Amino acid sequence: MEGPKTDTEMPYPEMIVEVGGVTFGEENRKKMTNSYLKRSENSKIIQAICALLNSGGGVIKAEIDDKTYSYRCHGLGQDLETSFQKLFPSGSQKYLDYMQQGHNLLIFVKSWSPDVFSLPLRICSVRSNVYMRDVTSAINLSATSALELLREKESRRQRARPRVKELQPWQVLHRNIQEEEDMKTSASEFFKRDKLTYKEKLNFTESTHVEFKRFTTKKVVPRIKEMLPHYISAFANTQGGYLIIGVDDKSKEVFGCKREKVNPDLLKKEIENCIEKLPTFHFCHKKPKVNFTTKILNVYQKDVLYGYVCVVQVEPFCCVVFAQAPDSWIMKDNSVTRLTAEQWVVMMLDIQSAPSGLDMHYSSQLISAASSAPSSPGYPVKVLEFKEALQQHLFPVTQEELHFKPESLCQKLFSDHEGLEELMKTQIHPCSQGIVIFSRSWAGDVGLREEQNILCDALLVAVNSPLVLYTILIDPSWLGGLDYAQNTARQLKRKLQTVGGYTGKVCIIPKLIHLTSAQCRPGEIPVHYPQSYRLADEDEMEGLLQALVVVSLCSRSLLSDQLGCEFFNLLIAEQSALLSESLQETRELFIHCFPGTRKTALAIKIMEKIKDSFHCKPKEILYVCESDSLKDFVIQQTTCQAVTRKNFMQGEFLKTKHIVMDETENFCSKYGDWYMKAKNITHPKVRGAGSENLHHGVLWIFLDPFQVHHADVSGLPPPSAQFPRKTITNGIHCALEIAKVMKEEMKRIKENPPSNLSPDTLALFREAAYEEAMCAQALPGVCETKTNLTTEQIANYVAERCHNFFQRGYLPKDIAILCRRGEDRGRYKLALLKAMGLIETQGTAEVVFSHATGVCGSRIILDGIQQFSGLERNIVFGISPECAQSEEFPKLCFASRAIKHLYLLYERRVAF
Ligand SMILES: [Zn+2]
Repeated sequence: MEGPKTDTEMPYPEMIVEVGGVTFGEENRKKMTNSYLKRSENSKIIQAICALLNSGGGVIKAEIDDKTYSYRCHGLGQDLETSFQKLFPSGSQKYLDYMQQGHNLLIFVKSWSPDVFSLPLRICSVRSNVYMRDVTSAINLSATSALELLREKESRRQRARPRVKELQPWQVLHRNIQEEEDMKTSASEFFKRDKLTYKEKLNFTESTHVEFKRFTTKKVVPRIKEMLPHYISAFANTQGGYLIIGVDDKSKEVFGCKREKVNPDLLKKEIENCIEKLPTFHFCHKKPKVNFTTKILNVYQKDVLYGYVCVVQVEPFCCVVFAQAPDSWIMKDNSVTRLTAEQWVVMMLDIQSAPSGLDMHYSSQLISAASSAPSSPGYPVKVLEFKEALQQHLFPVTQEELHFKPESLCQKLFSDHEGLEELMKTQIHPCSQGIVIFSRSWAGDVGLREEQNILCDALLVAVNSPLVLYTILIDPSWLGGLDYAQNTARQLKRKLQTVGGYTGKVCIIPKLIHLTSAQCRPGEIPVHYPQSYRLADEDEMEGLLQALVVVSLCSRSLLSDQLGCEFFNLLIAEQSALLSESLQETRELFIHCFPGTRKTALAIKIMEKIKDSFHCKPKEILYVCESDSLKDFVIQQTTCQAVTRKNFMQGEFLKTKHIVMDETENFCSKYGDWYMKAKNITHPKVRGAGSENLHHGVLWIFLDPFQVHHADVSGLPPPSAQFPRKTITNGIHCALEIAKVMKEEMKRIKENPPSNLSPDTLALFREAAYEEAMCAQALPGVCETKTNLTTEQIANYVAERCHNFFQRGYLPKDIAILCRRGEDRGRYKLALLKAMGLIETQGTAEVVFSHATGVCGSRIILDGIQQFSGLERNIVFGISPECAQSEEFPKLCFASRAIKHLYLLYERRVAF
């Protein structure tokens, strides 16, 4: 459909709709003599407002007809205001702002946000064009009532009870009781007649089921076609009924239409055509057409044919009939476009994927149309629960000075580019309270293309200021800067609304700056927004930052990784709180944790809980694990005692009351029976006395059932004796891509179980449940696999990636490079040092690798995977010689140690 086009000349990073010349001002509009023009100007603006509301907001640009017009003096015009009031019954100021700029009037339209207090409407509509009978009237339903009707029809359909009550006209009228049904019964009697008398008076009146209409004297057919859709839609959506044309609704006298004025056969045909064209929407499988019967009754005057009465009997409809396509609009291909009835229903009901009974083509066809409107974002549901805590933690709103975030990236940028920090401070002046969030490319963070010519972007979020996106150019002569900045600002704003769920007025003003000149670039037109687009106070700022937290968590960036790690920590805290509820009554427990659950973090939290619940000293709680590196890590994280299994077997632990054992899947019975020893410490038996000692401590044993190594020698009791037991299957604390790898591996292991894994343990893995947990918790990340590489290629790949990470503000302590076998460390170290030395740039400190024991330090870890057991890092490179399918076990090991980035690099198998 042809509609107003968008304007590319305007400097706003918004959807702009140009509506051409419009008369503005109270007096001017009152004086307008061309009422058609007045109405068309009005509807042009209303349609554009509706389209922008439904498409993420934007700006309408109207050329002011009267050159002497001033918005401040003359206002808008009563008819326009009335139309706005109709569109926004609860006030238009929440959505609209006006600004005169020279001879243009700009109308700023905020994105539509469903009212949470009433039935939330996902889109805005001028008119639904869905009618229903309300006793003797046909009512065009409000969007809210139309939604109620749609929901009712949909749920009736889902309950598979198509309640379509047939008209039952064969009741006998009762003498003393009168009901509305009587009118219907009389109408049906009337419908059976074939002969009427001119001016005969009918014995029934209009009702829910009956409507009388007189034929007009002029333009009989066009007039009928004009009113017919309303009545057909109303009767069909209600309970059916009779539209009787040719009877006066006041006197109930039969007039009919003079026979020379109308051709009855043609009239019947016209009516049938008209009804068949009415838009419908079906929730049902059968999808019947509107069921109706048209009958022409002859009207006689003194036995001579005078004319005709036309009766349309409409059956109740299974689903929904529209009088015409809804008066609701969206922006499509930059034009204001009317929605079809189907699109409208799909958007109103937020039909994401086709539910049973609804054809697939609805959703697939409409994705493009609906994509510009707010839709349920695809983020893990847990994100919403924690967005406030995350914002308070990473972006606290304080009264103090400006904060530059993320710190590591700012440090890198400011040290690499002298003057950048000062430049930013002058740019941001006079804002003194707020947060500036840097990224190497905000475009990349919101899913757009990154540009080589951009040094970085910085987003200013401050009280009493609009959001400003500063784009710092490397080459000031590059022409793509404005496009880049505008697109980035537009996309980020869209995401704040659709993904972040921000419902306030928000704008992002793009600003291009260059390192050497503090000036705005010449030729850049300043962008003005209404006052209400500024963040008014701390509350609004927090709300916006929380939306930004959600947007960032759902993207791939340094910020996203930092938020993600915090998010996973919160999830683990929640899980440990839940688990520790059973500390008092379940002193001995086997805790089976699926890969990626981060059982070490869980174990550490549980030790703290033990300390609190039993009011004991840290020294009374003992942590036991297999590897030295893990033991060292745990010692740094907790005040409790931590030893390796070897030391545990060799030492005496007289003061220990409670024991938490971690990574027991790696244990073996070398040095003795660790399980018996632990039991005897936590629950000593007094020999001979026949009664148990009063002391009964906690012995909780964590293990990953999928990574049990030593089949019979682990020292663990057989799976059937690992009781009581809890299985944690829903703790997914890593990127979605990494969780998928683990899921596939577990599936594979379950299908071809190795002899050392017990089938009942594997049975605990259920794909559907695991996927559900992934949807609730997993965040976007990266997983790449490269095969058939040489040692040198592996080293180059890792070096390039690392260099790239450092450029983006990641630190060496975010990275672990893990070899499948510890003995390969030396070989890779040499290759890696060489490769990294080659791409080392100025300012980069020399790369130093650390063993797994240095996990708390600031260096890149390079070690064997076993040495890194129980530990994790944000970025993991897993290096392995190419191996056969059956040996692909390390994939699961590598995956369970990575949080957001996993690179699996397989070396070509060397022929010996
Ligand atoms: Zn239907």
